[in-house]
Amino acid sequence: MAQKYLLALDQGTTSSRSIIFNHRGEVVASCSEPFDQLYPKPGWVEHDANQIWNSQLHTAREVIRQADLKIGDIAAIGIANQRETTVVWDRNSGEPVCNAIVWQCRRTAEYCDRLKAEKFDRALKEKTGLVADAYFSGTKAAWILNHVPGAREKAEKGSLAFGTIDSWLVYKLSGCRTHITDYSNASRTLLYNIHDLKWDTEILRRFDIPASMLPEVRPSSHVYTVADPKILGAALPISGMAGDQQAALFGQCCFDPGMTKNTYGTGCFLLMNTGTEPKRSESGLLTTIAWGIDGRVEYALEGSIFIAGAVIQWLRDELKLIDTAAETEALAALVEDANGVYIVPAFVGLGAPYWDPYARGSILGLTRGANRSHIVRAALESIAFQTKDVADCISHDSGLTLSELRIDGGASANNFLCQFQADLLQTKVTRPKILETTARGAAYLAGLAVGFWKGKEELIRNVVVDREFFPRMPLVQRQNLLRGWQRAVDRSRGWERVD
Ligand code: ADP
Repeated sequence: MAQKYLLALDQGTTSSRSIIFNHRGEVVASCSEPFDQLYPKPGWVEHDANQIWNSQLHTAREVIRQADLKIGDIAAIGIANQRETTVVWDRNSGEPVCNAIVWQCRRTAEYCDRLKAEKFDRALKEKTGLVADAYFSGTKAAWILNHVPGAREKAEKGSLAFGTIDSWLVYKLSGCRTHITDYSNASRTLLYNIHDLKWDTEILRRFDIPASMLPEVRPSSHVYTVADPKILGAALPISGMAGDQQAALFGQCCFDPGMTKNTYGTGCFLLMNTGTEPKRSESGLLTTIAWGIDGRVEYALEGSIFIAGAVIQWLRDELKLIDTAAETEALAALVEDANGVYIVPAFVGLGAPYWDPYARGSILGLTRGANRSHIVRAALESIAFQTKDVADCISHDSGLTLSELRIDGGASANNFLCQFQADLLQTKVTRPKILETTARGAAYLAGLAVGFWKGKEELIRNVVVDREFFPRMPLVQRQNLLRGWQRAVDRSRGWERVD
């Protein structure tokens, strides 16, 4: 193939980024632009969909300029996006009918409580693999139809379109011609039946959402359309898309059942590839579509941790115990252990496997000898303990053994954390050289569809490991630590509940 590069658009929650990758999957140039976070009411979070588009477009143009390449050198465009964030726009004007409702927005929490009270959550779990939570797009779309003046009438006439951010970007990139999404994004809407691979008519009826609004669902690696040449200067194929966490799983080359990645960011996202079979979770994890490729759909189990790197931010910003996140590594290494100190960062309750919204953060096991290093170390350890809890759930629910954990995200730079994680999991932890796994996944999906890469084997050959961490902690020490963590979690649970 004559072209040398792939353009990945990584549309995140706080910034839009564009990255150019070469054939070896290396980053040639990257550019990012933040955009506004809108908080119109407590618990509500919105984005201006036009600002998202404009920031994405600026970064795409800028990264092409920076890389100093000809537009003809780019083989295709791939998209990874913040998931679940909901846009509804008018097909005639191409304008959104209101701000995008962001995945974090809690405005439909009561609606979800009603769904649970009416026991519809069981059907939702069965059909979509998800839980009845305001996080997902379906209830957000219903909210728009029920609250934006004139929206329902327009929707009934077929003149409104619903989409997650992937759909919105493709619509804009294609010159307002193409209204599609991919399997991975569709599986986060709470409207898509992940077994039948269809928008679910019973759910649509329950949420009162007209099917005419919905995008067509396509594979994650497929030539969907071409970009309007007026936008980037050439009719580049748009040929890959996936929600950010699924894109990262693909970017980490977790192609086989059992392969697992964890992203250590503000929170953690742990995803295991479970192959062509959707695995039902008994511990409240999500069953989701990883991607559609090569004529089939593959699934994943997903567990998230609310507070991970955020506990380090808290040490820095609230406790003022550190100046930078990076210094925690050296501080933790100053001491042999946490001296019996445990931090349970249940600042917003606890997720899997405890599911306790009343849990609150705590520091336990303090003695007169506990010092700054012990606290910092306990904070880092809490990230690994929580990951271990979720990894146990994933292994249990999938029936698959975790033989390696591939990691990325900001906090994966911390060698102490990585080693401690390997020790707790008793599994190899692998950190790739290129941590841009989300954008890379989008590039890979797009590149495979246009023959830029011939197959997954070629992508596997691109994997360059930065460092591997092997378990080395004695068994008894590990058991004692895990027992201590369990006791600390028990003390934190139910704290907010007023009986
Ligand atoms: P997000 O995408 O969620 O914004 P990032 O992947 O950029 O997050 O990671 C940032 C998070 O990682 C922050 O919460 C920060 O505290 C944490 N972090 C960054 N570097 C380190 C480090 N060296 N050690 C521990 N935590 C770190």
